[in-house]
Amino acid sequence: MAAIRGKDTKPEMTVRKFLHRRGFRYRLHVKDLPGKPDIVIPKFRTVVFVHGCFWHRHKGCKNAVLPKTNPDFWEKKLKGNVKRDRKNLEALRNMGWRIVVVWECAMKGKNAGETEVILDRTAEWLTGKDEILVISG
Ligand SMILES: [Zn+2]
Repeated sequence: MAAIRGKDTKPEMTVRKFLHRRGFRYRLHVKDLPGKPDIVIPKFRTVVFVHGCFWHRHKGCKNAVLPKTNPDFWEKKLKGNVKRDRKNLEALRNMGWRIVVVWECAMKGKNAGETEVILDRTAEWLTGKDEILVISG
């Protein structure tokens, strides 16, 4: 269960290491952008969010199942996160930012072996023109 919410989560570190290796320059946790994106790649006007499936309520994901205790509390709390996320993405889009959302499940468990493939795709996307990339397990 995703009980720990930290800044330097493992999937985020994986993405950062990859970008670094590929020579993409980035900034971290940029406070003056909506939602304080985890990674910002100014050259490609791209922000990257690495979303924990539980905290951000990844739709249909088995990692996003609510706890059995206090489900109402969680429902309400997490609904707030989802609403905020949506608002932030919209604001970023309006500011002309391109957006990558990496769901943690894309890099965990049985998908862990696919990480390189996923990141290669991301690197390719960065140099393209599409506006939104969602990576999911
Ligand atoms: Zn997920």
